Amino acid sequence: MNGASHLIGGVTAGVLLGHHHPAELAIIAVASLLPDIDRPNSLLGRFIPVLPALLERSPGKRTLTHSLCLGGLLGWAVYASAGPPYAATFAVGFLSHIVLDLFTGRVALFWPLPARFGLSLGVPPVFIEAGALAAWGVWLALGGYRYFINLL
Ligand SMILES: [Zn+2]
Repeated sequence: MNGASHLIGGVTAGVLLGHHHPAELAIIAVASLLPDIDRPNSLLGRFIPVLPALLERSPGKRTLTHSLCLGGLLGWAVYASAGPPYAATFAVGFLSHIVLDLFTGRVALFWPLPARFGLSLGVPPVFIEAGALAAWGVWLALGGYRYFINLL
């Protein structure tokens, strides 16, 4: 999935789970984009010099930055520095990214173990992404926008 899809998915998951404070949503937004810093052309990776290219070369795409080990480590760092509520918001963003990627490819959840996991729906990833965006639009049109009203 692309960065916009991850951002929409993460923030929507956060709002549905009751995270409405701007600081929480900012953490969710960054956490939902963070795993893709293993690609220099990703939404977040294009603003970070050198590191994305190094991560893409080794250990590779959807490995270290998509692992539950790194997610747990970063979640612990957020917990230790900002407290439990913000660690929960970080987890929402990070895990939303991982779940969405499981539907569009294979992820090394337990990196450095080489096993990769994915949930194939039998259609090309571009159709899954387009379908998810269409479903999100329908949900908004049918009243899902009410969840975002508390943000104003
Ligand atoms: Zn990803």
